[in-house]
Amino acid sequence: MNSELLIKNGRVIDPANGIDEKCDVLIVDGKIAGVGKIEKSAQPVIDAAGKLVTPGLIDIHVHFREPGDEEEETIASGSAAAVAGGFTSVVCMPNTNPPIENETDVEYIHRKGRKARKTHVYTMGAITQKREGVELAEMGFMAEAGAVGFTDDSDGVQDPAVMLRALKYAAMFGKVVAQHCQDNSFAGEGVMNAGYYSTILGLPGADALAEQAMLWRDIQLVKKLQRTPIRYHAQHISTAGSVELMRAARKDSLPITCEVTPHHLLLAEECCAEYDTNYKVNPPLRTASDIEALKEAIREGLVDALATDHAPHLQSEKELEFLAAPFGIASLECALGLYVKALVEPGVLDWAGLIELMTAKPAKIIGVDKGTLGVGKQADVTIIDPNTEYEIDVNTFRSKSRNCPYHGWKVIAKVEKTIVGGEIRFEV
Ligand SMILES: [Zn+2]
Ligand SMILES: [Zn+2]
Repeated sequence: MNSELLIKNGRVIDPANGIDEKCDVLIVDGKIAGVGKIEKSAQPVIDAAGKLVTPGLIDIHVHFREPGDEEEETIASGSAAAVAGGFTSVVCMPNTNPPIENETDVEYIHRKGRKARKTHVYTMGAITQKREGVELAEMGFMAEAGAVGFTDDSDGVQDPAVMLRALKYAAMFGKVVAQHCQDNSFAGEGVMNAGYYSTILGLPGADALAEQAMLWRDIQLVKKLQRTPIRYHAQHISTAGSVELMRAARKDSLPITCEVTPHHLLLAEECCAEYDTNYKVNPPLRTASDIEALKEAIREGLVDALATDHAPHLQSEKELEFLAAPFGIASLECALGLYVKALVEPGVLDWAGLIELMTAKPAKIIGVDKGTLGVGKQADVTIIDPNTEYEIDVNTFRSKSRNCPYHGWKVIAKVEKTIVGGEIRFEV
């Protein structure tokens, strides 16, 4: 007998297929079998009246810390956090210890992801060996093993000649190269944004130019390679200057995409004023005008994905002084509510626009056939209560880490059920 699941009467938002209407979704044998008014009876039935029914959310930027730092997060704990946040697919960053830099490493992540049996776990591979920025890693073998792209995230590739080679090489396998844009000569030892607050707090600042200089340089490389089918993705852009560069790149129709995180939309540099290390993140929190520029970029369609950069850390490490504490915020479980607060509530995006940046568009960046409720596609579905307000409580996190500055924030949009391949993997 076939396995069936019928989701009735929800507001189905499927931007990939231009659907935003009250209707039903039928799942048969783990695949979407119909969207619309479904007359056929099926069991079980989920009553989704008053709820949003969307393609499973996709986060193309998470740090699950395995191998090497399993006390902070594992693929199992991170995957549980992901489905609790509504994410049916995530992309792990390769800056683990050791880094993900060959075929065996990629297979290891996939195996652990399958074993966790929560969300689909993808990974990017490192661009360079040991993430040292010198010799290219085994990109071909990693691509063959299923890596969805390459990045040296947490570091930018400093040498332009190495980056040029990486772009050309990744193009041979049709993979995206994702860059943590940070020119170290401008970033220096910066622990927060360089500006008024870094001066009065007596902390070394990382200049906005550190991000913009590398993004500008990479755009020149992309232009140089115009006859090569490359794909370049700027991770976590955070400054008004980067928005300007993206705007120009888009005008030139360059194959460049970018992502924005919740913290760069909601928090500004003055959050660091109490030396609370939960606000220490890289790239750093910027200014109110940078936040406005990012929102404007999203409104204009310059941003292709919302990504958390979920970066779990131990409490003991975050309790170090600001200079010594590690960078990062853990936000996978509350990201949806945060995006709604940052973008839907102030009218920057409507629901369909938000869901597109969390489903169809990120799927396209990593080249996976997901982010849609198209008939015949794997049934990854998120059911959201769009109205109930709730308080973010880090003590409820499935993530192993608690380095989250949003504890106590009130948000709306609660994930009710997360369905992966037709199976309910999370429900409240
Ligand atoms: Zn990064
Ligand atoms: Zn990252």
